Amino acid sequence: MLLGAHISISKGFEKAVKDALSIGANTMQFFTRNPRGGAVKALDENDIRKCSELRQRENFGPLVAHAPYTMNMATNKKETADFTKRVIREDLERLEKIGAEYLVIHPGSHMGDGVEAGIERIAALLKEVVTGDEKVMVLLETMAGMGSEVGYTFEQLYDIMEKTGIPHAFGVCIDTCHLYCAGYDIQDRLNEVLEEFDRILGLDKLKAVHLNDSKFGLASRKDRHANLGEGLLGLEAIERVINHPAIKDRPFLLETPGGMENYKKEIEILKRMKDNG
Ligand code: FE
Ligand code: FE
Ligand code: ZN
Repeated sequence: MLLGAHISISKGFEKAVKDALSIGANTMQFFTRNPRGGAVKALDENDIRKCSELRQRENFGPLVAHAPYTMNMATNKKETADFTKRVIREDLERLEKIGAEYLVIHPGSHMGDGVEAGIERIAALLKEVVTGDEKVMVLLETMAGMGSEVGYTFEQLYDIMEKTGIPHAFGVCIDTCHLYCAGYDIQDRLNEVLEEFDRILGLDKLKAVHLNDSKFGLASRKDRHANLGEGLLGLEAIERVINHPAIKDRPFLLETPGGMENYKKEIEILKRMKDNG
């Protein structure tokens, strides 16, 4: 089983993997750069080599990178679009050197122009920065549908990928909090939701899962993560998610509040809930 959390890489990649191992994780997510800014540190080749060695030694699972929040693929502003393209190009190149498997991106916000316009702009932008020959796969994250967010239905994600003309280049990262708040009832109808995902996108597109409880309810279109068992989703729903036969082998990544101490506690809970250890 692949269990991990969102971890800081401010002290390097080897240290981040060590930190992940210290809380019982065997996969991790990290921000490619400051989530609220754009600056990026030069890569340290020695650190990358040591990180790879450690991953091999420990049989560590996939490295999942998350793009910064300051970019917006659905923007109608040229400046933001240029910034977004530059960040994705740079990050894909860096992540390949690091040996990361995935780059998770929020599809974006249409800024009042409507979901259709947003989908067109996201697909056009992705077409410019992704060739499909990358070793790192871009994953579109399912959103809660807050404000003018695009990508809160499986159909929207399907349309984005189709319109790029290279749908094979992309995968999907689901987020339990976002799905629930977007109106997918993974609490009482997990089977049906996954069947719907399979019908529209194909379950082979599902590459990673963000595990979060939710402060808000079904179809609330709000995005506030809660600690496992302390939100409206509850532990039983989380337990069914991590043990569901269709997705149980995917990397599960915590993005819950409370930092490393909390992650450690929640990974212990998840390990106890996982069928067959
Ligand atoms: Fe995210
Ligand atoms: Fe998420
Ligand atoms: Zn969220």
